[in-house]
Amino acid sequence: MLFKTITRENFKKMVEALMEENEVIGPKARDLDTEGKKIYRFLKLNSFEELEMDYTRSYSSPKNYFLPFKEDLAVYDLHDKGWDQDIHYTIHPRVIIGMRACDINALLKLDQVMAKSVYPDPYYFARRRNTLIIGLDHEPLEDCFCRSMNADTAFHGFDLFLTDIGKDYFAAINSDTAYMILNRFDAKDVTKEDQFLYKKVKSRIESKFKTQVTITILPELMDLEFESEVWKKWGDKCLSCGSCAMVCPTCYCYGIEEDIDLDFSMAVKRKFLYSCNLLDFATVAGGHNFRPRADVRLKYRYYHQFRGFVEAFNQSLCVGCNRCGKACLAGISPKVVIDDLIETEKR
Ligand code: SF4
Ligand code: SF4
Repeated sequence: MLFKTITRENFKKMVEALMEENEVIGPKARDLDTEGKKIYRFLKLNSFEELEMDYTRSYSSPKNYFLPFKEDLAVYDLHDKGWDQDIHYTIHPRVIIGMRACDINALLKLDQVMAKSVYPDPYYFARRRNTLIIGLDHEPLEDCFCRSMNADTAFHGFDLFLTDIGKDYFAAINSDTAYMILNRFDAKDVTKEDQFLYKKVKSRIESKFKTQVTITILPELMDLEFESEVWKKWGDKCLSCGSCAMVCPTCYCYGIEEDIDLDFSMAVKRKFLYSCNLLDFATVAGGHNFRPRADVRLKYRYYHQFRGFVEAFNQSLCVGCNRCGKACLAGISPKVVIDDLIETEKR
């Protein structure tokens, strides 16, 4: 990896230039929560001033710029002699600024399923190909456990990754495009002092992690505790609202629906993100529901995140952002559920 530094003024010029040719997405403050703290979302930037480089955590992840909540897969024009199909894979070039290491790692996990599997998703692939990613370091929040999930640093999956070292940004470069863009804005070679400042920031970030989740024995533990009361305990609290999956940077369960005009002239095949916690997730034709109980659905969500994905790809699907824990009105989070499972095993 190559490293450069860029001043704040030049970074501003760079973002403004990118905005002239691309759709630029970044963290924006959208509202205040009940404690008066800003709520951030990744949204289209209309000016550099809207970009909140010191944002904490976005409510939902930037995943939806790759996997939208709803997308039309195909539009059909139906007529007497048959039908014509209209499919669009391509997107206007896009830049996402400010992605955290955990969210970049989340994309790498999604790549395993959406881009590198036997049946890649061309819609996801096109968005991934046409999106320039500029990452941004930050100090963890109290409940972040990305370190436990090995997702607190990103080594690939981005074009540029910035660390704020005071008057400049320290930039890790991971693509030719990023290298060329940076050079247009007078990026400098890294000096000894820059290196010193960078290491200082990195060790400060490292020292700020407070929440730990033990995952080393988790896959085996989950097999052992398949019938545990822990699932019932938390499942009984679960409202089956699906919020956890909607804000999660790695959940990718989806449904397909078809809309046909009443006069049979047009039809749309649509994909929408879904959640395995929702009541009808495992309902099949004829009405049988394979997972009618909330505790069983909750258990399977955790099994996918911490057991099934490990078996398939040698890594957990969870990146430890705790967005699900923040969004859950029932107080359910990976930390409390996993700690509970570990405690049960000790008893
Ligand atoms: S775990 Fe929480 S957020 Fe997820 S479905 Fe249940 S109540 Fe909703
Ligand atoms: S902490 Fe929750 S929201 Fe974040 S990746 Fe893990 S399961 Fe998804």
